[in-house]
Amino acid sequence: MAFSLYNTLGRKTEVFTPRMSGEAGFYGCGPTVYNYAHIGNLRAYVTHDVLVRVLRERGYRVTHVMNITDVGHLSGDNDEGEDKMVKSAEEARKSVLEVAQFYTEAFFRDTEALNIRRPDVVCKATEHIDEMITLIKRIEAGGYTYLAGGNLYFDVTKFPNYGELALLRLDELEAGARVGVDKNKRSPHDFVLWFTKSKFENQALVWDSPWGRGYPGWHIECSAMSSTYLGEQFDIHAGGIDHIPIHHTNEIAQAEAGYGKRPWVRYWVHNEFLVLNKGKMSKSAGGFLTLQTLVENGFDPLDYRYFLLGAHYRSQMQFSFDALEGAKNARASLLDKLYAVAGRTTPEEAAAAETAGFAGKAADYLAAFDTAIDDDLSTPRALAELWGLLRDSSVAPAVALAAAFRMDRILGLRLEEAAFSRKADVVDGAFAAEIEQLIAERAEAKKAKQFARADEIRAHLKERGILLEDAKEGTTWKKA
Ligand code: AMP
Ligand code: ZN
Repeated sequence: MAFSLYNTLGRKTEVFTPRMSGEAGFYGCGPTVYNYAHIGNLRAYVTHDVLVRVLRERGYRVTHVMNITDVGHLSGDNDEGEDKMVKSAEEARKSVLEVAQFYTEAFFRDTEALNIRRPDVVCKATEHIDEMITLIKRIEAGGYTYLAGGNLYFDVTKFPNYGELALLRLDELEAGARVGVDKNKRSPHDFVLWFTKSKFENQALVWDSPWGRGYPGWHIECSAMSSTYLGEQFDIHAGGIDHIPIHHTNEIAQAEAGYGKRPWVRYWVHNEFLVLNKGKMSKSAGGFLTLQTLVENGFDPLDYRYFLLGAHYRSQMQFSFDALEGAKNARASLLDKLYAVAGRTTPEEAAAAETAGFAGKAADYLAAFDTAIDDDLSTPRALAELWGLLRDSSVAPAVALAAAFRMDRILGLRLEEAAFSRKADVVDGAFAAEIEQLIAERAEAKKAKQFARADEIRAHLKERGILLEDAKEGTTWKKA
């Protein structure tokens, strides 16, 4: 099976065929850095990461571009509300750029902890104002804009394909749309390309432009920055499903109006939401969970990655600490299996097995894994193949380990680092029985007042990475 993706544009799963053979240009909408990323946002970035890893594994030279929104994103995606960055800076009594710097660093700490690889290009909106102005000028030259109240708007009625991605119908929209607060708009779905001082007198960051001193709308950032690095047409664009009806719809309108080519982007990939029991998680509504909250509750960031991989990216996920606990336990068992396999081989043997290539059962597991991944990134099915492989004692340990590492190049659970760095932790069935035996022997020794022998057993186990704890009920052991 060739690598296939569900394309929101057209609503069907399609074989991925890049514009240029062997290359893949990918843009994923990045964070607005006015606050920490919440764990719902991080689901989007784990999805992007898996997608990029798969493209690389399938041999494409990938250029992964991600923006950092540090200006222009209002609390409503529809040009309504306050500027998120300005509001956050005012509350923190800091400059917008200080706030942006702080949360950008926090964002990359989170993504690093989740083993999300850094995009090849990370671009800040504030550093690409010229590119945005150039694109807006082209849109204006094409006759798609009007000035009202000092702002420059995109006139959606001039763009016949408006709403194609979201399957919107303008006539229905006109009738059904709620009246926006922005009275300058001729149609409720028109949107701002460039704000001037007519709105947000307190906007800290402003630039000169042909339409006056002001700042760009949020949508234009993504159209201009993605095409700056990936060309006027490119392969894949991703984001959460919330972006289908407004943000991505507007990005397409701007880019296709400005560059005059269709389709601007060939494949649109959207992840479903992570929701709390109570409902939607949102930064602006406050009360959201961060990765740090999970860590403070005793979870490893990779437990959360494992939790996310357990669902298909297009299924809505309910978050609860119980469900995360389940993922944590499952990952711990998976690692135990891995340690047990690693304990029966060496890094050199595993490397040799990878070089030799896979045959038999291991090849079957890998093929099933690839089929699952190629079928629109089915990570739950892929994980099941990893489990099957590690449980299957008929696969030689070195081969099983090498195959697991290969799977993990896509899953990103840091299995290779874990397998050998914690080899001392390996407690397979035989060792566990030996420990119990030594504990019993030590109890006997103590009873017979042979304390030197009892201490010797404790020291011996410590040397092998096992700590004993004496309690009234008896002696227990744990890994050091
Ligand atoms: P933002 O920083 O608000 O622009 O959002 C960053 C990314 O997270 C976007 O791709 C959103 O579509 C996505 N996103 C926002 N909320 C959620 C959620 N609860 N679950 C999954 N993805 C989300
Ligand atoms: Zn975007």
